[in-house]
Amino acid sequence: MYDFIIIGGGILGMSTAMQLQRTYPDSRMLLLEKEAAPARHQTGHNSGVIHAGVYYTPGSLKAKFCLAGNRATKAVCDPHGTNGIEREWLNAGQLREREPNIQGLGGIFVPSSGIVNYAEVTAAMAREFINAGGEIRYGASVTALEERRQEVRVHTSAGDVACRFLLTCAGLMADRVVRMLGIDPGFSICPFRGEYFRLPASHNQIVNHLIYPIPDPSMPFLGVHLTRMIDGSVTVGPNAVLAFKREGYRKRDISLADSARMLSNPGILKVLKANLRPGLGELKNSLFKRGYLQQVRKYCPSIQLGDLQPHPAGVRAQAVSDDGRLIDDFLFRHSRRSLHVCNAPSPAATSALPIGAHIVAQLGQQLRELPVFTKTKVAVAEA
Ligand SMILES: Cc1cc2nc3c(=O)[nH]c(=O)nc-3n(C[C@H](O)[C@H](O)[C@H](O)COP(=O)(O)OP(=O)(O)OC[C@H]3O[C@@H](n4cnc5c(N)ncnc54)[C@H](O)[C@@H]3O)c2cc1C
Repeated sequence: MYDFIIIGGGILGMSTAMQLQRTYPDSRMLLLEKEAAPARHQTGHNSGVIHAGVYYTPGSLKAKFCLAGNRATKAVCDPHGTNGIEREWLNAGQLREREPNIQGLGGIFVPSSGIVNYAEVTAAMAREFINAGGEIRYGASVTALEERRQEVRVHTSAGDVACRFLLTCAGLMADRVVRMLGIDPGFSICPFRGEYFRLPASHNQIVNHLIYPIPDPSMPFLGVHLTRMIDGSVTVGPNAVLAFKREGYRKRDISLADSARMLSNPGILKVLKANLRPGLGELKNSLFKRGYLQQVRKYCPSIQLGDLQPHPAGVRAQAVSDDGRLIDDFLFRHSRRSLHVCNAPSPAATSALPIGAHIVAQLGQQLRELPVFTKTKVAVAEA
């Protein structure tokens, strides 16, 4: 019997496992991941931006955790410390001085934005978890869950296990995992593919910073941007196209089962109907490279069609409420013996350390309501 089982080997599962192990060092912990290695989904297919936190609704969990996460991620990656969230308004001339290839009426310079490889951060967290006594089982897909009075039974493709408390960070499968417990989560995951291009190496100096257009505040996505990646190359993207397979990274990846469930979901249908025009625009620009090019040429006019070279896409897990809203903020749910990350889109990679800390704190409160709990050894004796 494990004290804790964590489902999901993305950055949130690993961050949670690592911090849980630090808080309860004498407990038995197991992390289950269906893939053969960590960070195979959202965490390994993103822009790698350490967001500064300027885009998010004041007072939201996103705003709070992104700011703390920006500092914490940099503190982990850079022993020399970090910047605060400073902003400097630039007029058109000042923008051109900093970025000769970018045109615009003005800009906001945010020195605390950064760039990192989140798959490597996740692998480092996994090593710390294992070194502290945690166990990870890859290739173990969770197929069913049963919450009982004294334990949670976890059925996996690699055998069954049990724990006193379950945590789930299942990304694109978040709703399905919660439903396995018989809980109606009140939302469904709608997958949005984010397609990128990479500029040729001769364009590695085309920008000096990360360049974002002003985002549409009614949408949870930031718009096609230029990112100087950790290897020095520059990517363009991502767009946001409805995906017909939850873990489908190519345009031709279509799952009939995923599509049927998505298109018969009243909440998702409502969102698609309300956003038909922008949705069709994204689809058109995904199918026709010229449309995609136009979006980036609005602010970087020197990029040519031939500069858009292939680069792997990612798929975002975006929660949609049953009443048809794109859920903007991070969202968590719990039952007596479980706690679930339900909506964790960007900037959740930036925010992974504070999200993990939040989960551990939240869990502490839940554990106090279980029969026996001490800080070093959890819920050993049951009523
Ligand atoms: C295109 C794109 C660009 C992005 N850009 C940024 C960015 O620049 N900065 C930023 O901060 N954020 C960014 N994000 C968001 C960020 O990548 C995600 O918010 C973050 O990676 C979520 O981590 P996670 O651990 O919740 O999910 P994931 O990384 O998807 O991990 C979930 C894990 O759960 C596993 N799992 C699911 N079901 C089961 C099961 N039944 N049994 C066992 N295992 C299971 C999966 O295999 C997976 O490994 C971007 C995302 C995308 C897609």
